[in-house]
Amino acid sequence: MKASVILKNSREKSLLRRHPWIFSGAVTKIIGSIQPGETVDILSSKGKWLARGAYSPFSQITVRVWTFDPDEDISQEFFHARLKQAFNSRSLLMKNNNLTACRLVNAEPDGLPGLIVDRYADFLVCQFLSAGAEHWKQEIAACLKSLMPHAGIYERSDADVREKEGLKPCAGVLSGQEPPEFVEIQENDLYFLADIRRGHKTGFYLDQRDNRAALAEYAENAEVLNCFAYTGGFGIYALKHGAAKVTNIDSSADALALCERNIALNDLDIAAAENVESDVFQILRKYRDSRRQFDVIILDPPKFAESRGQLERAARGYKDINLLAFKLLRPGGILFTFSCSGLMTPELFQKIVADAALDAKCEAQMIRQLGQASDHPVALNFPEGHYLKGMVCRAGNMFP
Ligand code: SAH
Repeated sequence: MKASVILKNSREKSLLRRHPWIFSGAVTKIIGSIQPGETVDILSSKGKWLARGAYSPFSQITVRVWTFDPDEDISQEFFHARLKQAFNSRSLLMKNNNLTACRLVNAEPDGLPGLIVDRYADFLVCQFLSAGAEHWKQEIAACLKSLMPHAGIYERSDADVREKEGLKPCAGVLSGQEPPEFVEIQENDLYFLADIRRGHKTGFYLDQRDNRAALAEYAENAEVLNCFAYTGGFGIYALKHGAAKVTNIDSSADALALCERNIALNDLDIAAAENVESDVFQILRKYRDSRRQFDVIILDPPKFAESRGQLERAARGYKDINLLAFKLLRPGGILFTFSCSGLMTPELFQKIVADAALDAKCEAQMIRQLGQASDHPVALNFPEGHYLKGMVCRAGNMFP
């Protein structure tokens, strides 16, 4: 008999809205014996069947829902159908935009909680981030193999979030060939080398694709400062679209070395790029003190807030770099500013950037709102999935 999780009185409301998480505080008891990652039925306090999901006893999220359909069994066929649907939903995006890299499965919004699958040319890179995804790893790998028979399947389950699920970091080949040191991918009219074995996330910040492309409009003849450059992303789009000079800043020498290779790969003028290994917080101060100015600045920092307790400190970090950026922009200059902290709401982020402009004594407009690319969908019933927020601001005059 399948085990069941019984919810406390009237705690089924979020499930009725098809939100896929059940927090430990909503559970009154568990009937039957069950191991982490195995499938449980979820019942209301009155015994009504609500959903079926993966049990995760070490996480605050006790169950992640696989299905709201009582007739749907969780089996290899289930994963095959969900994966196929997710793959199909990206096929036009890839075909019409000359992409060879794309997020094919974005976890909860694709009905597959805890599972990420990113395609990099002939490789699929997977992250199994929940007890449920981990439990079905071999079946999922078999489905991926049948959907893309020639692909190498590589696991990058070395993200910190696994710890919360009681899982250890894990990486390596799941099927097919070992990936080379770098995989070449195409994004719009540009090429990048991605290090899928050791790079950040699964190798590349696929979520920023549309925002990198949006930079093209502002690049011509511009002097661009690309902060938190990683392997060059925004900077390479700027060079491609006519920037006079691009300064890429990152604290990682490896990332900047790959940035240089990416510039060469696209036949762009290496003399127009300046790659500086430095802490962004420090170098922005140095540029302020030396009165250096730019036409376009990009601020794409790593996640500053991992937990609610870190939000205030994160807010100070965002304000600091945005304030300095507004001081370094020429009048009419453009700021691309981002936060990928899921806990930071768009409203709060906008307020922080507004406060930064005010303290920098810079009149500024928001001319565009940005988010994660469409292969990172947000389920309407799961707003938690909307983590990447961005704005394009135009700096006006300084006021006294
Ligand atoms: N914009 C990039 C992704 C940026 S990821 C793209 O489109 O591909 C964030 C980057 O910030 C990482 O490369 C990391 O090495 C760098 N980083 C983190 N903290 C930093 C700091 N204090 N100063 C400079 N770089 C930092």
